[in-house]
Amino acid sequence: MNELKLSAIPGMHVDDCTDSSCVRCRVLTPANLLEVDTWLDNAGVFTKQFYENVAGELVITGLRIGERPGHVVAKFGNTIVRHTGGRHSVRPTSHPTGELSAAEWNERYPIGTPVVAYPGFRPEDDPHCTRLVTKTRTKASTYGGHTPVIWVEGHGAWIALTHVDPTEVA
Ligand SMILES: [Zn+2]
Repeated sequence: MNELKLSAIPGMHVDDCTDSSCVRCRVLTPANLLEVDTWLDNAGVFTKQFYENVAGELVITGLRIGERPGHVVAKFGNTIVRHTGGRHSVRPTSHPTGELSAAEWNERYPIGTPVVAYPGFRPEDDPHCTRLVTKTRTKASTYGGHTPVIWVEGHGAWIALTHVDPTEVA
């Protein structure tokens, strides 16, 4: 009965979901990986971060759900569906997650690319944030297997790619 109540709550479904056996569905992104992992853990579902070799780097590209061999794999951008009865499946949707992987960055931007970097907050979150007009000094890589980062000139630690904006060259 709980499941019926859950399915009536708006905002619990994505993609205009009309699957009548779906209790809740949600898109997996790098940003909500831990939250989704906890959501599944709390339901007693086995999960494991899914790694792949991307351009020579072992990085997390999604989540394995369920014990082998009956498991499914949700990649970032896919939709995880919880069905009545507690089964999970994956809709192979591809929602842009809004985040570039290190490999995607390196494909587009060479070392030395002019950027504006925000080591702390982004301006959307703090209008008085630190803003560095600089250049990249390394290729992007993936910190801890999950966070794409890069080093820029004039700053001594890595900065998340989500805090580094390439400067438009006219
Ligand atoms: Zn749904």
